[in-house]
Amino acid sequence: QSYLRGLQSVEGKLQSFISVNAEDALAQAEAVDRRLAQGEVLPLAGVPIAIKDNLCTQGQPTTAGSRQLEGYTPPYDATAVARLRAAGAVLLGKTNMDEFGMGSSCENSGFQPTFNPWDTERVPGGSSGGSASAVAANQVVAALGSDTGGSIRQPASFCGVVGVKPTYGRVSRNGLIAYASSLDCIGPMAQSVADAAALLSVIAGPDGADSTCSQRPGEDFAAGLLPAEALTSTPLAGRRLAVIRETSGEGVDAGVAAALDSTIAHLQGLGAEVEEVSLPSFAFGLPAYYVIALSEASSNLSRYDGVRYGRRAQAEELRSMYGQTRHEGLGSEVARRILMGTYALSAGYYDAYYKRAQQVRTLIQREMNAALSKYDALLCPAAPTPAYRLGEKSADPLAMYKGDLMTVNLNLAGLPAVCLPCGFADQAGGAKLPVGVQLIGRAFGEADLLQLAHTLE
Ligand code: GLN
Repeated sequence: QSYLRGLQSVEGKLQSFISVNAEDALAQAEAVDRRLAQGEVLPLAGVPIAIKDNLCTQGQPTTAGSRQLEGYTPPYDATAVARLRAAGAVLLGKTNMDEFGMGSSCENSGFQPTFNPWDTERVPGGSSGGSASAVAANQVVAALGSDTGGSIRQPASFCGVVGVKPTYGRVSRNGLIAYASSLDCIGPMAQSVADAAALLSVIAGPDGADSTCSQRPGEDFAAGLLPAEALTSTPLAGRRLAVIRETSGEGVDAGVAAALDSTIAHLQGLGAEVEEVSLPSFAFGLPAYYVIALSEASSNLSRYDGVRYGRRAQAEELRSMYGQTRHEGLGSEVARRILMGTYALSAGYYDAYYKRAQQVRTLIQREMNAALSKYDALLCPAAPTPAYRLGEKSADPLAMYKGDLMTVNLNLAGLPAVCLPCGFADQAGGAKLPVGVQLIGRAFGEADLLQLAHTLE
């Protein structure tokens, strides 16, 4: 009740949520009480959480931020959601997002913008902006987001919270409304590394309902974190990290660069060796990402034809029903992406775009894995700038896409990363905006990565 009151008291200012179901949340909490009374051990008993609205929740509306799915109520829970419920978490609501995950500012939501709790004239980032703002404003203790090309890490950075993008396949995608299936990952957003680790422990692990989910058994990431008193004054002695050279220089905000420098100094102070590594193909990740993600999206989104899910327009005959439904239900950015993806996959263009992008993806994978065979983790900002003003980039899709430069490569490579608040960038007028740093680890190296992030906290 206390969290619901707090959530509602700032919701008018932030608009983090697409739906809140207070009655259902209280019923869930009572059910948790009964389970505890029966002696069940629940690792997340009563923890108030939020779920990004592209994760299916049984009996609760799920829109993926799209008018196309307005009124759609899934008959089942996504695996990650079901696991959180089983662990005793209480779901307070579904958070706002860019439509189908397509965007970096939450301005592409079919319903409403979300505002950054640090400065409500600014965006919370995206696409998991609703989850980030809800966690930053303590509307909930933690939330789930999804990350196809940065959608957990960039909003975490803009809102000053912790975001974890797990290794591809670490968390089942069953029940996640698909954007780009070879890139989509579900992960936690939280107020501390320990909280994020607690959520990840619950949602990770094999799932028969997703054939791309890894067979690796789940781990207790939270129990693995060393408490502060167990650490020496140089707990990172012998650890080697490297800053990705291609993420510095032109286009990087001075406040972001300064926050990264102070993180490097902090790491060195804790005994780590920090070098620089060059990933020559890094800059090609952005165009490769947008070709691959949009190609997959054009295929995934063909299911919204008015026949099977959500909205159906009234029309005289079938083809105009398809057209009218999509015209009414899908926003202009989604339409743009379906068109670009369809184009890239068309006969005659396939080799020039899609195949080329897959070759770049392989190069990036090789370069990143080679670097990670030498270093324990790679380091870079989560975004080139802190949170920008609403409307600043919404008229220029390319400017918006360019903001994803720092995040998309590791989705192409399938690698895990933790985004951690690392300082503030001063703004003209005296405002301070949070900046996040990404620690990028080896595939399935989440335990080590979380310990590293926890040491820095
Ligand atoms: N901003 C990127 C895009 O628009 C990433 C989004 C995401 O990770 N869902 O595609």
